[in-house]
Amino acid sequence: MNAPERARARLAPAFDNGFARLPERFYTRLEPWGVPDPHLVAVSPDATALLGLAPDVLACPEAVAWLAGNRRLPGSDPLAAVYSGHQFGVWAGQLGDGRAHLLGEVAGPQGNWEVQLKGAGRTPYSRMGDGRAVLRSSIREFLCSEAMAALDIPTTRALALVGSPLVVHRETPETAAVVTRLAPSFVRFGSFEHWAAARDIEALRLLVDHVTERHFPEAFDSANRAEALLAAVSRSTGHLVAQWQAVGFMHGVMNTDNMSILGLTIDYGPFGFMEAFNGAHVCNHSDSAGRYRFSRQPQVAHWNLLALATALLPLLGDDAERARAAVDGPYADAYNARFAAAMRAKLGFAAPHPDDESLIGGLYGLLQRNRCDYPMFFRQLGRLPSRPDAATRAQLDAPVRDLFPDRDDCDAWLASWRQRLMLEGRADGERQQSMNRANPSYVLRNWVAETAIRAAQGGDFGVVAEVLDCLRRPFDEQPRHARFAAPPPDWADGLEVSCSS
Ligand code: AMP
Ligand code: MG
Repeated sequence: MNAPERARARLAPAFDNGFARLPERFYTRLEPWGVPDPHLVAVSPDATALLGLAPDVLACPEAVAWLAGNRRLPGSDPLAAVYSGHQFGVWAGQLGDGRAHLLGEVAGPQGNWEVQLKGAGRTPYSRMGDGRAVLRSSIREFLCSEAMAALDIPTTRALALVGSPLVVHRETPETAAVVTRLAPSFVRFGSFEHWAAARDIEALRLLVDHVTERHFPEAFDSANRAEALLAAVSRSTGHLVAQWQAVGFMHGVMNTDNMSILGLTIDYGPFGFMEAFNGAHVCNHSDSAGRYRFSRQPQVAHWNLLALATALLPLLGDDAERARAAVDGPYADAYNARFAAAMRAKLGFAAPHPDDESLIGGLYGLLQRNRCDYPMFFRQLGRLPSRPDAATRAQLDAPVRDLFPDRDDCDAWLASWRQRLMLEGRADGERQQSMNRANPSYVLRNWVAETAIRAAQGGDFGVVAEVLDCLRRPFDEQPRHARFAAPPPDWADGLEVSCSS
């Protein structure tokens, strides 16, 4: 068999289009428009493996035609789904897949994956949009999806990225691209809000059944599926946002239509990773009020869960207190437990201690006052000895102290950190190893994404591949990729990301 035959043999018979079996009012069946003259920009070997495919399979022209939406993938049943949502806290009404086509669901070796093309043309839900995605934002989504997965943070995946000479107009003319995304489900909070707003309770119930049957078997078997789903989603969303805060990820557009019912990071737009620490940082240039600033993300996720709870009320006997109870406790417990565990791991503590909250609070104050580079601080902290002698301490602490304009401020916190380490008496080598598994050397810094984008816009896709290669192993020391761990260079000072994509 040649490569397309192998791919066809692997993909075609395995399609099982569960979402397409919902009633027709959930979506519109349609063919993607595709893009002219597509070329492969990048493939994720890890995502390819999820489908049980060898990466080289996607390089042949037939596979590129599939990934561009130019040719129907055998067994697929393309559709665009309808959903609604709250954008920036305001009810936005009907939205939907305005530039995404769900091709169907493929059975991979470890579970099913819905396959979606983003940017392959208009749909009935495009509103004023052109149904396209630009190369710039597609590279960001491709790289960050795979970076988050490697950081072990729940996320939709990116299988491949194809480019096209097709010109699309944003602030300036740019070229089009299509990202192939994978997720066990692309259902959003807004998918439920849609049916609640339409007062179509039967559809609401069908969607709860569909999601619970496939993804929340315990909720499916419980007395009230909607209530159990709400509690489960509150927990997974709490876990997700705790991991975002710990790693310093900012989503940028936490609208309810961008909230996955599975607690995945979804819809990468103007996201960012915290560099010089500032809790008030707003990574989305279009978010002038700072609604989605870093420090507000946990609160916003809770607000979004309450919007989901409101949508599910008709299935909870319109009992608002009951709905709220399914959100508040599960969300707070999940968030607090996961955040505390993540911070303990980042700081090198093996077990909880009652004073940790104040130590961590003190640390964030310190980072904020000194605007330290967030990933670098934690990574370097792991290298410090727990019991330095007075004569060499300043020298040994230099990798961390040098990140602080105010060294005394840093020294005071380090002393309290060391006292805390003493309580456990773990060997430094073991602690450093475990800290290295919790503190990535590499996150997708904005300037790194921008470097890959500029090279790709000039026709060199090598940097995208290099960055992907680096971010697949974010916790490893990788001397040949060391430059990608650096704080932003001067040229990156004025970089801004907006909703435009
Ligand atoms: P987002 O803020 O990217 O999550 O998008 C919000 C809504 O706008 C979703 O329904 C998208 O499908 C839609 N949308 C965004 N950009 C485009 C575009 N270029 N063409 C069509 N629809 C779009
Ligand atoms: Mg979206």
